[in-house]
Amino acid sequence: MTVFYCSRCGKALTTGLTALASVPDVPDLDGARPKGARQATATVPRRSYAIDREPWGAPFVPQQDQDNPVPAFPRGPLMATEEGFVVSAGPRDTVIVHPDDAPDLQPLPQWENSTGCCGPNGTEGPNRACPCGAHVATLAADCFGPYELHLDPVRTYAFDEEGRDSAAQ
Ligand SMILES: [Zn+2]
Ligand SMILES: [Zn+2]
Repeated sequence: MTVFYCSRCGKALTTGLTALASVPDVPDLDGARPKGARQATATVPRRSYAIDREPWGAPFVPQQDQDNPVPAFPRGPLMATEEGFVVSAGPRDTVIVHPDDAPDLQPLPQWENSTGCCGPNGTEGPNRACPCGAHVATLAADCFGPYELHLDPVRTYAFDEEGRDSAAQ
């Protein structure tokens, strides 16, 4: 089991989580949506986490091939600005967790970076903070795109509970 902590204050941000070997496939976000729910089913199930090896979230840069655009980030939608279709140039190795497994995270003041239709779309940068104020995570929870909480790989750190046990012996 792994717990993720705030790099600034050391507070535990998640419950104990089990690593997944890879990010689960979410083949059809519309089909995966529970009846009546505004968000898709969460990409990772409760009490687990997956490392996203691809760039994720803000900032976004123009795509090379504007004639054959790809989604702006894994499991996300096509996104366009006045510069054309864009793709994420955000951090690699963000940690995807179920949003309910980090219950103490809070929206930023004035809902900064939380623009969206039914929830934050997660494309503006970190939008969830540790109670100490550090911007540690980005929640994507709009009615289109995935339902994921991404922990920042620098502003959080992992601690393996089993590693602590063996180190103590
Ligand atoms: Zn903190
Ligand atoms: Zn909506």
